[in-house]
Amino acid sequence: NVQKTANAVIIGGGMIGCSLAYELALRGMKDIVVVEKEYLCSGATGRCGAGVRQQWGTETNAILARDSVKRFEQMNEELEYDMDIEFKQGGYLIVAYTEGEWTQFHKNVAVQKSLDIPVEMVTPEGAREIVPHLNIDGLFGATFCQTDGHANPFHVVDAYAKAARRLGVVFETYTEVTGIVAENGKVKTVETTRGNIDAPLVINAANYAAGKVCKMVDFDLPLYPQRHQALVTEPVEPTQGPMVISFSRRLYCQQTPHGSFIMGVGDPHEPKDFNINSSWDFLEDVSRQVLSVLPLLKNLRVVRQWSGLYDMSPDANPILDEVPDVQGMWVLAGFSGHGFMVGPQTSVLVAQKIMGEKCFMPIEKFGLDRFRRGELLLEPSVV
Ligand code: FAD
Repeated sequence: NVQKTANAVIIGGGMIGCSLAYELALRGMKDIVVVEKEYLCSGATGRCGAGVRQQWGTETNAILARDSVKRFEQMNEELEYDMDIEFKQGGYLIVAYTEGEWTQFHKNVAVQKSLDIPVEMVTPEGAREIVPHLNIDGLFGATFCQTDGHANPFHVVDAYAKAARRLGVVFETYTEVTGIVAENGKVKTVETTRGNIDAPLVINAANYAAGKVCKMVDFDLPLYPQRHQALVTEPVEPTQGPMVISFSRRLYCQQTPHGSFIMGVGDPHEPKDFNINSSWDFLEDVSRQVLSVLPLLKNLRVVRQWSGLYDMSPDANPILDEVPDVQGMWVLAGFSGHGFMVGPQTSVLVAQKIMGEKCFMPIEKFGLDRFRRGELLLEPSVV
């Protein structure tokens, strides 16, 4: 059975739960328990593209991503990892096939440059120099940032979990949270399939299930789950090329260091649902979209497809806040498909707030109150 009391219970053993456990323990919090219903990294983190880009349209996402890149660069050393998180900065090329996108990219680049993100606007020919097999018919231009890249999500979570364990954090896997008891406006007990834990601080890092967890204290989180599918191809000779993204074609595609291509498309008709079955429609859709951008991939064979869930927030920015009227109950969710890349600094920000330190950026921007006030941080650049 699980221990009966703790200072903090973190629900969810993905990128967010594990990095937050580390950041809290690093700042001196003792007696932290992470409760995960399956194994670490079994949720969206282990199913994600693991791309890391700083090219965002909102300052909030851009700052979290920019500062997280600095953390990924140092992560092996900082976390004293015995393997390699495989952070490779091959860049991101974001292509504009519509005039609307191109106009938006000018605005995005202004935001990024004001934050010293090393991004450049490139002509269609310039884009083709970066990705020689890119289709530039009808291309208005592209933006490119060389320090964007990707990492191995299993190793990143493993690195955080091992570092957290060394600082005393306990991980309870195959343990599901089934209820949360609040009393007199304060969180009190976390009920799990392996016993109850009393704790004054409970952190909901359950991603697509964050809404269900908040329901346990009668709070409606404005989030919904949405399936996103991906596939991997057979490996071919590696080119060290960048991640290619097209928002109008809903596509991201990247070659891994060993030569396989990983790609996915967003489906605007995907229902709000917990379904993670793979579909044939996806294979047809992604093939069509990727060949319109990277025609050279035509005869590549698909090795495997899978899917995972995004936790969609109304403005594609995360919610980092204490639940109203339930003191001690925090939520870190609503990452809307980019929680891996912003995870490192999101956890720093929340740990600073919880431990009463000065926050490196105003955490209030990510508050739940923004929806009531109608002051959304609308992110224009999501796949
Ligand atoms: P998760 O990794 O989902 O962790 C939450 C955990 O909570 C799960 O392990 C789950 O088992 C556990 N849990 C749920 N309910 C309970 C309960 N009741 N009790 C106990 N445990 C519970 N992000 C990027 O930054 N870059 C990308 O390129 C990218 N590509 C993506 C591609 C796909 C196909 C998908 C699906 C997502 C992608 N994302 C990407 C998004 C990214 O995966 C997530 O934003 C990020 O992993 C969120 O981390 P997390 O720790 O919040 O969630």
